[in-house]
Amino acid sequence: MPFGAPAGEPLADAADDITKFAGTGSEVERLRGLVAQLMQKTAHDPLTALPTRSVLLEQLEHELARDASDGAQLAVLFVDLDNFKLVNDSLGHGSGDAVLREMANRIVDCIGPEDIASRFGGDEMVILHSRATDHSAEALGNRILAAFAEPIVISGREVVVSASVGIALCKPGMKSAERLLREADTALYAAKDRGRARLEQFNEELHARAEKRMRIESDLRAALRESQLFVEYQPQVRLKDGCVVGVEALVRWRHPEHGIIPPADFIPVAEDCGLIIKIGQQVLRESCRQLAEWSKLMPGRSLAMTVNVSPREITEPNFIAELREVMAATGIDPAALCIEITESVMMSARQEVIRLLDEIRQLGVFIAIDDFGTEHSSLSRLREMPAEVLKIDRSFIDGLSSEPGDTAIVSSILSLAYAMGKHTIAEGVEKREQAAMLLRMGCEVAQGYFFSRPVAAEQIVPMLTKSLWQPRSVLALHSAHSTAGPARRGQRYFIDEFLEHIGAPMGTKVAGPS
Ligand code: C2E
Ligand code: MG
Ligand code: MG
Repeated sequence: MPFGAPAGEPLADAADDITKFAGTGSEVERLRGLVAQLMQKTAHDPLTALPTRSVLLEQLEHELARDASDGAQLAVLFVDLDNFKLVNDSLGHGSGDAVLREMANRIVDCIGPEDIASRFGGDEMVILHSRATDHSAEALGNRILAAFAEPIVISGREVVVSASVGIALCKPGMKSAERLLREADTALYAAKDRGRARLEQFNEELHARAEKRMRIESDLRAALRESQLFVEYQPQVRLKDGCVVGVEALVRWRHPEHGIIPPADFIPVAEDCGLIIKIGQQVLRESCRQLAEWSKLMPGRSLAMTVNVSPREITEPNFIAELREVMAATGIDPAALCIEITESVMMSARQEVIRLLDEIRQLGVFIAIDDFGTEHSSLSRLREMPAEVLKIDRSFIDGLSSEPGDTAIVSSILSLAYAMGKHTIAEGVEKREQAAMLLRMGCEVAQGYFFSRPVAAEQIVPMLTKSLWQPRSVLALHSAHSTAGPARRGQRYFIDEFLEHIGAPMGTKVAGPS
């Protein structure tokens, strides 16, 4: 074929689509095979061999366009691994790939013959469930959750990688694939939000919540631009004499329409969308600036400033540089600053987090574990943590004296802290009896509405020169009834020693009320 196309060369039409092959019959067959293989490859994810996103989308569009006169319903299930990043980071990417392959196999074992499971991207798999009844989609989701509860063996190690599932059922007349996928994604988000390793089915309430969340996110961006966030301070009181030894910085949002919004209503959204980094920077800067101002106002009166930091902030590459920069700019004593992290950071503590916390400690800044006792604690993790302070969660303080279980928990945390050489701060003290009991049990410092609510910076100043409570009568009571309260022998020894020797928490020297 001297003047024609070479054997087997594809011939394109005006639109550049391959329409025919030139060549001998067997060459054409061979090329057809190659093209089929190529299409098969692009239609399948090479790692898991599942159909790709585009295949699923095409099939979904096709199903939606079909007249579903037989009443067959469609459902879409989003399946996403919980903490897949942790698997990759701690076990390596090879193991991450093995987990994804196993995930795909397990999903394929769960689906029916008419369903399609595809890898949508990353650790997200999407199932198109045909002929769905009201319950079949949920039953399929539950089979998947059960499959993921079984450990996976990777490099000889058993790991459990749970998954969350979001389900959306196609409503009659619904023609938009994009909308169905968005609804399944919203349901997945809710499943993650409600604790992971569970499934959620899309409904209007979830939709309203997702909308509210989006509104908060966009309002928060404006709040950051327009300085609507501000900080209040809650005093931390040394129980033996009522002296304010520190304050906790707590962020608030003055919303132009909704008034003051508490952090619980916007910090989780900010953590999710990443705005927490900017919020955290503002809070850190403002609270350190405030501490410097107080130091100037009352030289010699040292005070600890405690700032809450979300897990996401700590792992932000610039966090330590930012901390250094703020301390240099404000000139505060690093030992007067304490970073509060939650117990969940401690539990997920990878070596990377511990290294970062060590680095913070090397700057001279202290670390406290917030809400201690509320998550699943591991004592070996606690031992590894470079944290000096345990903050006993308010939920245990609530039941102090009325709930024997809570009293026992507080007492155990205090003993543990003492044995590990850590300081303790009790949170949420609302009653005099609670403060008295904590003092008797050997707790050093407390905060709560009983002493003061979180207040504006100006209101802190007068508190720095007075005692916020008079514990003397309690001590007298304690020595008169030395068997009173839950204090045991070992603890009483601790209390006596501690009352004699304790300085301010976190190594700061406090001048005390004048
Ligand atoms: P948290 O760090 O455990 O702070 C203590 C919370 O308990 C504060 O709520 C405080 O106002 C409240 N509280 C203190 N004493 C009492 C009491 O006696 N009774 C009761 N019922 N509550 C008391 P707030 O200010 O609403 O903060 C809630 C959470 O929001 C904080 O819990 C903290 O986890 C988070 N948060 C606050 N500010 C920030 C921030 O700047 N950054 C980050 N990442 N999180 C923050
Ligand atoms: Mg806190
Ligand atoms: Mg707390």
